[in-house]
Amino acid sequence: MSETKILTVLGSTGSIGTQTLDVARMHGYRIKAITANMNSVLAEKQAREFMPETVCVTDESAYSDLKVRLSDTGIKLTCGKEALCETAAMKTDMVINAVVGMVGLEPTLAAIDAGNRIGLANKETLVTGGELVKAAAKKKNVDIIPIDSEHSAIFQSLMGNSQNKIEKIILTASGGPFFGYNKEQLRTVTPEQALKHPNWSMGRKITVDSATLMNKGLELIEAVRLFDVAPEMIEVVVHRQSILHSAVEYEDGAVIGQLGVPDMKIPIQLAVTYPKRLKSLSARLSLFDVGTLTFERADEETFVCLAQARKAIAAGGTAPAILNGANEAAVAAFLGGKIPFYRIGELVCECCGAVRHKAEVTLASVSEADKEAREYVERSLSL
Ligand code: NDP
Ligand code: MG
Repeated sequence: MSETKILTVLGSTGSIGTQTLDVARMHGYRIKAITANMNSVLAEKQAREFMPETVCVTDESAYSDLKVRLSDTGIKLTCGKEALCETAAMKTDMVINAVVGMVGLEPTLAAIDAGNRIGLANKETLVTGGELVKAAAKKKNVDIIPIDSEHSAIFQSLMGNSQNKIEKIILTASGGPFFGYNKEQLRTVTPEQALKHPNWSMGRKITVDSATLMNKGLELIEAVRLFDVAPEMIEVVVHRQSILHSAVEYEDGAVIGQLGVPDMKIPIQLAVTYPKRLKSLSARLSLFDVGTLTFERADEETFVCLAQARKAIAAGGTAPAILNGANEAAVAAFLGGKIPFYRIGELVCECCGAVRHKAEVTLASVSEADKEAREYVERSLSL
């Protein structure tokens, strides 16, 4: 029988959130609190199953709806961004941050400040405010365990090797649904095509990010933050099968990687149980069934978001927050039918060229950078 853990799940109604609750259900973990944005129907279902102390939603109409839905349960219901931070700060064994977007930064900081261990899926937290998060975690001696599959793979490849020097990180990328497309072909792709990821079933925003390769750009920055490596030490390798989830090359030339079927429950569970591993219901990898593993270079001239992310991390300061804010706004515009797919990359590059970044990284400077970037994109949309 596994040890009982108490978890708080931020973004419990999303792709990572629901899979976290699957892991919790399997191991009999208790849930301290859950949070959602608008999905009151699923939040109610989850609340009734796991009976958390608190349910927090950010959307006001979802709050009104849930008030009625949960009125017979005695579960505390809260609403808003501040309440989200308060929820993250409730004492628990681990806070799984599975919200999407930069909105995840402040709750991450609040959770760290309260001394809670973090299982981090929300990559935008590290892209926008990585320095703040790292500094806070160091000060409070809090572990941040990555859930993003590539970063979990790197984390696992580093286990037991703290004395050893690495030369390179091999960050694998599926390439998304449009791998091999040229700029001309990208001009006519539809949201429906962009939302069809070849290997993973994920939330809408990250699925679009995978299609533009911005996801790999964000992950490159995430890896720089998590593993304290220079961006040049990270090699992006397109690996269509998503079986090798990433790897590390040591100075003796040995390459250690982590393989497995593409199933986020594996890294989610490890984040919770680390340093132990527990039995899971995930499918097993059959290398015979996979047959061939392929590795190719990414086309950064066509998929400009990845190249722009490299520029942003090289510039430092609030440049990654500008990149991220522009991308969040552009992806929302694409999903809302306001711009074609290829405009996402164009808008991100235009915005990064136009909005000046600041060297100093504070919560205020990062929030300001995010706001300016979103405003830039909004203005461009109305032209
Ligand atoms: P989803 O869109 O599926 O879920 C997002 C969650 O965040 C939902 O619970 C949603 O609530 C909530 N949310 C959305 N907007 C807000 C807001 N403004 N304030 C508070 N909560 C909000 O996303 P994913 O689960 O796919 O991704 C979550 C994070 O994990 C992302 O950062 C992504 O990059 C990362 N990640 C995801 C992977 C995956 O396989 N899905 C893999 C690796 C990383 P509601 O449902 O009510 O709208
Ligand atoms: Mg990933």
